[in-house]
Amino acid sequence: MTSNARIIRLLFGACLALSPRAIAASTPRPLDYLRHLERLQRRLPSGFHALVQPPFIVVGNETPELLGMRARRTVAWAVAKLRDAYGFARVPRRILEIWLLKDAATYRHHARRLTGERPSTPYGFYSPSAGALIMNISTGGGTLVHEIVHPLIEANFPDCPPWFNEGLGSLYEQAAERDGQIVGLPNWRLPGLQQALRRGEVPAFRRLMAMNGFEFYQRDRGTNYGQARYLLYYLQQRGLLRRYYQRFRAQHRRDPSGYRTLLEVLGVRKPNAFRRHWEAYVLALRYR
Ligand SMILES: [Zn+2]
Repeated sequence: MTSNARIIRLLFGACLALSPRAIAASTPRPLDYLRHLERLQRRLPSGFHALVQPPFIVVGNETPELLGMRARRTVAWAVAKLRDAYGFARVPRRILEIWLLKDAATYRHHARRLTGERPSTPYGFYSPSAGALIMNISTGGGTLVHEIVHPLIEANFPDCPPWFNEGLGSLYEQAAERDGQIVGLPNWRLPGLQQALRRGEVPAFRRLMAMNGFEFYQRDRGTNYGQARYLLYYLQQRGLLRRYYQRFRAQHRRDPSGYRTLLEVLGVRKPNAFRRHWEAYVLALRYR
């Protein structure tokens, strides 16, 4: 065999093996977690504990028992159920820390220490630059599940538009398990969305779904999260959410906003009629 032929054969073999190997190479190994934990423990503030809960390291200033319980019941549960629901094959390439702060004062203090900025929300957020999810866990576990969605989407659907990323995160702010599957329930975002719908202040789906980060986050009139959430809630209730995600991800190059895929998965020919149907559906929902 000539050396060229050998190189071609090697390359061909490498290409065949690319998918599983690439995934394995980008996944942190057990030793990586232990090293990260060791490094973290050397600089851990007093009163804090840390433990490994793949694909995260969970850190907090509650008791070790409570921290362990949150790691199992919220973090491990949400990761397993979300991976199962959407077939997420990848976990984040780098190990992210989840900081669970027991009250508003320590939340603000450590959020600022870790990111250099004051937090813009009292509940919690994901900071890709700090490699951390930082939570005021006294406000409940809903925001934690919301934020866990983001690194999973980042790893599995890097070109995901903001409306789907935030719609999915928001869907699981109020989550439960039904027949072994994670489901989102109506939550506090409903009354505000209903009010805005009655006032005719909620944009067309085509517009919401085409928004870039600036439009979605900075120019939000207060309805973007709720609208995205209750569109996904509607798909979930019709048993179409997983199929929608998988179709959207598979054809996002042709349909970057996911709008055409939405009409296709719903079998909708008349978008205006669907919009009226969805509005009536949302207006009939009850939260508490
Ligand atoms: Zn979010």
